[in-house]
Amino acid sequence: MAWVTDFAPTTVELNACIDCGLCLPVCPTFGVTGDESASPRGRIAAMRAVDRRLVEVDERFAEVMGLCLQCRACEVACPSLVQFGRLMEGARAEVAAQLPDWRTVATRTVFGRAIASRSAVVLLSWVVGAVQRMHLASVLPGSAAKATALRTIPLPVPTTAGHEWLPEGEPIGTVGFLAGCVMDQWYSDVHTAVIQVLRTAGYRVVAPKNQTCCGALAAHEGAAYDAAKMAAQNVEAFDGFDLVVVDSAGCSAHMKGYGHWADGGDDLASRIIDANELIATLLDADLLPHIEGDTPIAVQDPCHLRHAQGIAEEPREILRAAGYSPVETDPAGTCCGAAGAYQLDHPEMSAILGMAKSTQVRATGLNLVASANPGCEMQLKAHLDSGTVVAHPIELYWDALRSR
Ligand code: SF4
Ligand code: SF4
Repeated sequence: MAWVTDFAPTTVELNACIDCGLCLPVCPTFGVTGDESASPRGRIAAMRAVDRRLVEVDERFAEVMGLCLQCRACEVACPSLVQFGRLMEGARAEVAAQLPDWRTVATRTVFGRAIASRSAVVLLSWVVGAVQRMHLASVLPGSAAKATALRTIPLPVPTTAGHEWLPEGEPIGTVGFLAGCVMDQWYSDVHTAVIQVLRTAGYRVVAPKNQTCCGALAAHEGAAYDAAKMAAQNVEAFDGFDLVVVDSAGCSAHMKGYGHWADGGDDLASRIIDANELIATLLDADLLPHIEGDTPIAVQDPCHLRHAQGIAEEPREILRAAGYSPVETDPAGTCCGAAGAYQLDHPEMSAILGMAKSTQVRATGLNLVASANPGCEMQLKAHLDSGTVVAHPIELYWDALRSR
């Protein structure tokens, strides 16, 4: 038995790798371990071995695939354009299907089902919001305690889906808006900032009620069939919008690959735009104002913005328009170790990378950091001093705009 799911890596995809090794220096897990099996090339070799029926999907295969952060830095370095993110999602789907255990069930329950249910996410947000207010973090186990160190969740919890916002001034069009799963309650300030900036530029913003989670976490964790269902639901929900704005890097990156996940997915993928891209374009077109200033700010690049979508200049442009002077922290854009559920599965590797990232930020001497992804923000906050502020570039732009 080689592969059993519809999402498995194909022989053609695997043979695109020419074993050149150019991806090894950019791979964070290879950088930490120096182990070929923790490199992109080593992981592809393991997938090929299964594809050729030389080995089975076993515990060792699961371990080799599990250590990958899915940061996709290797895709940028690859001269052969290997779609590594796709291969890894397929390999994870196979592990989940062929080695079912409590983790598979938990992953499917949380990232495949609960996260797709708005009422379940709202209920969870109420619980976390209440725990935050009762200052109970110290009595909770590690990862749960970390969750309470998130931004304070507003109570009653807000929900974006099912609402629309009219433009201010001269209308220039309508955009669809992804509410997301936990982003909606846990990072509602970011949603507010993006929506208000788009209104200021003249957009009507509509968040359709029948949308769901983008499915990125499900795809990354091997719950591929659930990810496909979520993609199909969003294809239907966002039908008719010329542009669909997404303000979490992990979500926009995943939705730009919807062609792989649902019928009609290619069409929606072509209409997905990350909020950083759209707002930078509006600034270029002078549909939004530039605010004077040169306050230094450290910048962190989320992998799913920089590596998966090639978006790096846009957040810096937004920060400059907000009156900030971006200070680089890491020219290579190495993963901070957040990587969705990775912090729970591989706390040691996640901590090594989180410490390295926080050292780079501290070296700037700044206590203000811009990051355009909620997972990265969480990881930075967990490893930086409590006085350091981490914010989304568009949030900073909206703050500057409204306090003019
Ligand atoms: S996705 Fe990131 S961690 Fe995984 S193999 Fe590629 S570079 Fe390494
Ligand atoms: S850079 Fe691309 S082709 Fe070269 S080893 Fe890595 S994945 Fe294979």
